[in-house]
Amino acid sequence: MSRKPATRTRPAKTAAKPVSGVTVRHYCQGIGDCHLLTFKKADGKPFRMLIDCGIHVSVAGGPALVADIVSDLKKETGGKIDVLVVTHEHWDHVSGFLTAKDLFKDFVVGDVWMAWTENPADAEAAELDKFKGQAIAALQGVGQKLDAMQGLSSYMAGVRDGLQSVLGFQFGAAGERVRSARDAAARLSQKPSPTYFEPGGPPVTIDALPNLRVYVLGPPRDKAALRLEEKASEMFPLASGGPFARALASGLKVNEATDADYVDELSPFERNVGTPLSAALTGDKGSDPAIDIAAFVRKHYSGPVSAAASIEDRDQSWRRIDADWMGIAADLALQLDRGVNNTSLVLAFEFTDSGRVLLFPGDAQIGNWLSWKDLKWPVGQGTVTSADLLARTVYLKVAHHGSQNATPQKQGFDLLTSADLSAFIPTNKLDALKVHWGEMPYEGILTALDAKTKGRVIRADDPWLADKNGKPAFAAPSGSIQAVRSLPRDATGGPGGLWVEVDLV
Ligand SMILES: [Zn+2]
Repeated sequence: MSRKPATRTRPAKTAAKPVSGVTVRHYCQGIGDCHLLTFKKADGKPFRMLIDCGIHVSVAGGPALVADIVSDLKKETGGKIDVLVVTHEHWDHVSGFLTAKDLFKDFVVGDVWMAWTENPADAEAAELDKFKGQAIAALQGVGQKLDAMQGLSSYMAGVRDGLQSVLGFQFGAAGERVRSARDAAARLSQKPSPTYFEPGGPPVTIDALPNLRVYVLGPPRDKAALRLEEKASEMFPLASGGPFARALASGLKVNEATDADYVDELSPFERNVGTPLSAALTGDKGSDPAIDIAAFVRKHYSGPVSAAASIEDRDQSWRRIDADWMGIAADLALQLDRGVNNTSLVLAFEFTDSGRVLLFPGDAQIGNWLSWKDLKWPVGQGTVTSADLLARTVYLKVAHHGSQNATPQKQGFDLLTSADLSAFIPTNKLDALKVHWGEMPYEGILTALDAKTKGRVIRADDPWLADKNGKPAFAAPSGSIQAVRSLPRDATGGPGGLWVEVDLV
């Protein structure tokens, strides 16, 4: 019996990782961010940086998917993360630190990086926090009212749906608070507290990575850039609690009329000449017993209470304007959402030998981007500006899931001039449609990015990620992307891709 010479099988060669480059594994949960950056230390060992770990509450099966992601992270890193970056306090960026806390507790995290806006010892951050607390409480109140009301106009039904999706950035499905998730992330640090960053000063250096500089571009200290309102105002809306938040809180209390000592600061009349609507509708006579205002109100603005009457007859809320003032909740919700997005910690990673830059802007919206314009960093004998960094950016994590208002044209796109630019968008169009976010990702941004990157854009919801033999439409290596690998989610029991990984240089 002759024996064939043994064929030597070599272990499959993984793509050689560039010495001065980085491997970025983007998890593909859709509306949510989780990115693992693996740099190579001078001794050849990996240096792991994790940026965010969350999923929006509206995504079905979100916590289970995040658990799969964290298990994969554990497998890939052995549970050792050198730096955990938490960009901002939104559920879709931090939920995993709470919902998968039992998995994260086995991780060893060297340091946690956060923006100055998360620092409880910072006076301006405390002002911002006060606004957030008031706004969330007011919006929750309105949300509960609207949920309980029947016969809402289509506009108010839209406000109700919009509120739910904005509050979805603040709470988990079981009502968990986003603050708990952020704080769970902070507690993972081996240091006593996170390291807080703000723009300005020399770039951050890491001893183990002499080839890397990290520039902090945002969030700005400038109140106007962080402001929640479109219009300029002398008053710092973040500090004041915001006129919308006050009006909503006030309105809710008037409607409830439970606190006898409460004075509606916005009411045009003295308290003793009014009758709370709730009292009138329930048959309470109101403050002046001589006038049965309650009977009048019930006759003209309410409907028959008999269960025999049709629901349309019983529900006469369309005759009243008591719900319409809640429409201002839409403005407040937008202010809150944009304001928190603008607190995103924005980092640019520069390789000092090649000058190539990776930009991770979190969910920075226009105010944050515009604030980078005047930033300068002393480096060696010279000065680096934000325009330099943008011009040398070869890889962009697209901000805020590709929404319309998170990548400005002149101070954003137009400055990204590298011929090697490639991009990743953590987004899922179907989930965004489900929660009425409209066009996310925004078609105009997709078209512009596609032209600028020559098609080198990867999206978390790209169909090819679901196929184990799937490949992107662009050739790799191409631009800054040297290699692409991906893992379909069917390995963990779901549609789509679990992650996509790019070697960048
Ligand atoms: Zn987000």
